Formats: sequence, C-alpha cells, structure tokens
Amino acid sequence: MTSQGSDRWLSARALKTLTDPVCRALKRVVLYGQSKTSQAWIPVTQEQFPSALPQARVIPRSEHPISRASISDNALKVLYRLKNAGYEAYLVGGGVRDLYLGREPKDFDIATNAHPDDVRELFRNCRLIGRRFRLAHVHFGREIIEVATFRALHDATSDDESGDVKIEDGRVLRDNVYGTVEEDAMRRDFTINSLYYNIADYSIVDFADGMPDLESGVLRLIGDPEARYREDAVRMLRAVRFAAKLGFRIDEATAAPIPGMAEMLEHIPQARLFEEVLKLFMAGHGVATYQLLRRYGLLGYLFPQTEAALESDASMMPIWERFVMRSIENTDQRIADDKPVTPAFLFAALLWPAIMQRMDRGDDVTEPLAPDLLQDAVGDVLAEQLQRVSLPKRFSIPMREMLLLQPRLERPKGKRAMRLLSHPRFRAAYDFLLLRAEAGEVDAALAQIWTDRQASAGAAVADNKLETPPVRRRRRRRPRPSPNP
Ligand code: ATP
Ligand code: MG
Repeated sequence: MTSQGSDRWLSARALKTLTDPVCRALKRVVLYGQSKTSQAWIPVTQEQFPSALPQARVIPRSEHPISRASISDNALKVLYRLKNAGYEAYLVGGGVRDLYLGREPKDFDIATNAHPDDVRELFRNCRLIGRRFRLAHVHFGREIIEVATFRALHDATSDDESGDVKIEDGRVLRDNVYGTVEEDAMRRDFTINSLYYNIADYSIVDFADGMPDLESGVLRLIGDPEARYREDAVRMLRAVRFAAKLGFRIDEATAAPIPGMAEMLEHIPQARLFEEVLKLFMAGHGVATYQLLRRYGLLGYLFPQTEAALESDASMMPIWERFVMRSIENTDQRIADDKPVTPAFLFAALLWPAIMQRMDRGDDVTEPLAPDLLQDAVGDVLAEQLQRVSLPKRFSIPMREMLLLQPRLERPKGKRAMRLLSHPRFRAAYDFLLLRAEAGEVDAALAQIWTDRQASAGAAVADNKLETPPVRRRRRRRPRPSPNP
C-alpha cells in the first residue's frame, strides 16, 4: 500500500502521542499494524483501537502479588529461554488474571515477538499448530505451554473493505498479521484478560485498563461491545463464563447487547459450541453459569428445545427446572470432590425436559415411561440438538443407553430387573434416577429400592470377597495316545 506518508494514516505509535480529544476529532483515524510476514499495512478503525490512547501502565514486582513460585516450572522455562534468546516474553490471559486473584490457572499462555519458527528452533519439544494463525505448542509430558506470536488486529470490524475478510470457526478474521505487544493487547477480549506479566523484570504491563477492573470485579470488553460480539459471538458465552467463574459483574455496556445479539450464536460451528458448552458446565461453576445463560437469553441458542420446555406452561415445568438445576449442582459438587464427570450425563440432564415434552409428559403423567416412545423421543431430540451443538458418539451412545435404562429402573420387580445391577450403565442411570426423584418426578421410594438393592448386592459381593476362593486344582491332561506308536 502506498498511503504510509499520508497524514490521514498514522502509525500506532504516532497515534499514541496524540491526546484523546484530538483523536476523537479525527472521524476515521486509521491505525496500522505492520506485518513482518507480508509487509502489508493493515488499516483498522479507531473504534477498533480505542484503548491504544492511554499509555500502558506498568506495575512493578514490588506492587503486585504474582510470584514466580506460583507459575508452572514449564511456563517459566519457556519464558526464560525466549528471553535469553533476545525475545520479549510475557505470561498472558487467564494465567495472569487467575494468579492475581489468588486462583489456580487452568493453563499458562505465553505471548512473544518470536515467530513460530523461531520458537520451534528454541524448543525440541515444540509443535506448530493452526492453519491461518500458527501457534507453537511446547510439550512437557502432559502439560502444554501455548506460545503465540503477538498479533495485530486480527479481527477488525467490517466497515473498511480493504482487508481480506474471512469467516473461520464463526469468527470474522481480517488479514492475520503479526504485531506489537500493544496491538496484541487490543485484540484480546476482556480488559482483565489483557494483562502481561513480563519475565524481563517481573512487572505486569496493563495496556487496556484491566487492573482497575480486576480490582473491582468487573468484566468489560475491550473496544466497542457490539463490534466485538459481531467479530466473534462466542465472546458472549465467554462473558458469562468468566462472570460465573470469578463472581464478577458484567459491565453494563458489555452486557446490554447480549440478549439482542445472542442469535449470532447460530452461526458458530457445532464443534466449537461443544467445546464451549464443556467449558461452561464442566468447570465447577455450572449453577451460576446456567443462571446467567438464562438471564441473557443465551441458553436458547445452545439448547433450544430445553429452553422451550422450560419456558412452556406445562404443569411439570417447575419439576423439570428443579431437575436441571439439581443435575448441574450435582456436577459442580462432583468437580469440587474431584470425582469424574462426563458430557454424557450433562447432556442427558440438559435434554431431559425436552425429551419429556416431546413425549407429551408436560401434565402430571403418572404412568411409567414407555420404552419405545422414550427411544423415539431421545432420537428426535438428539438429532435436533446436534444441529446446534455437536456431541461426539463416544458421549451420545452412553447417554442414550443411560436414558433408555430409565423405564427399566421404573419397573424394579422380576429377575430381569436384578440383572440391571451389572449393566455397564447402571450406576449412571441410577444417579440420574436419584435426581429425578429429588426433583419430584418419580417416587422417592423407587429410588430407595435401587439404593437398598445395591447395598445388599454390595454386601454379597463383599462377603464373597472375604471368603477364600476355592483353590481349583488343574486337572492334568493325560497325554494323548500318539497316532504313530
Ligand atoms: P481459562 O483458560 O481459564 O478458560 P483464559 O482467559 O486463559 O481463561 P483462554 O481461552 O485460555 O482463556 O484464552 C487465553 C487468552 O486468549 C484470553 O485470556 C484472551 O486474552 C484471549 N482470547 C481467547 N479467546 C478469545 C476470543 N474469542 N476473542 C479475543 N480474545 C480471546
Ligand atoms: Mg487459558
């Protein structure tokens, strides 16, 4: 491009030297990030780059609580090796945010000015991933440290036609270019996710006014909220997820557009939404997350049939509602107790009201579930659900089996019923039945029968174990008579 010399086109650094009112006066101030790879100047609007104006605030080590002792050794190894090779290297994202709040981060992400190929040269145990934007994964046994090269405004708004707009994974992407650390900070989602811990002097660098928000518990998008949701609708889910996990308040300007823009989730690929659903419900804060998803009208775009059942005037609706709530509480509790949880159970619970509605059981039905009708309803509801959020077969198959055991659990008499105890899905189906009983959908006495039955079967097994197993003597085979004596 040729306009570098023009006074309408300012570099990011030049713009930073201007004062706020001057910038506001420029109707379409355009910033550039220079790509190391393409050497192209990428125009972006000021709207996209609002916080480039304040200078970065540096919080020295003596004024913040993040100690190296709480950073994973492997992340430190990567940071130091990058630094010693002459690169800038920062810990970013959830790592800094959670450590500052005294929480244990889920993972440690690193941002650097080293290019992916440079990173690979430094680490033997490194793999490059991603097609459009390459990231380096440095492997240390089971721990993976993700190293991303600073990106310029990777997802710009659509009011400038000069960029090459592409849609990938539901995100609007303009030319992917490497950038400076300041630019990298501006393309991140929330201010509290845009803090950089600098390994060179252990300071925290705050380019987006994240520190005051972190201190006061506010979740605020960087830039214009509507534009940022338009670029990537998943940010609405991320807002709810972080608010629930951290107990933060979503800033009004960040929250206001969500109900009106929630339908943009329809364009997000099902596989990406599956990953997001797991992060929403399987991180130990499911109840708060669920309440926020409903409050902001987001649940209906993840589980439309469930939302419809819960919004219906069925007389069973309060029971379904209680059931979903108890199931999510139960999952949170299991996570708190370090017990395993599976998406099969989660999806079964979230879809149950929809399945019941599909079977016309909205009005106090007392007959036990009819197995063939249940089978059809599970099939139909699942097929429709998969249009929105994918669920890999390794989860949908056990989910189905567990649900189809419900009618059998409702008929606890007879020999066949006894055999259920050894069914591979019995335990999950029984847990599901307990929740149905707690919600008031089935009789508590029914759940009790199965509780007692397991106790006595368990006692029998225990008794068996106490006995010394009879020693079975191996019979010695007589040598066969040889065919050729
Ligand atoms: P956690 O790992 O606890 O879920 P996190 O903030 O680290 O939280 P990640 O998904 O690991 O979230 O992403 C790391 C960082 O990448 C984020 O903190 C944010 O700065 C940036 N990021 C991730 N997803 C987006 C997105 N959709 N839009 C903009 N920035 C994003
Ligand atoms: Mg993270």
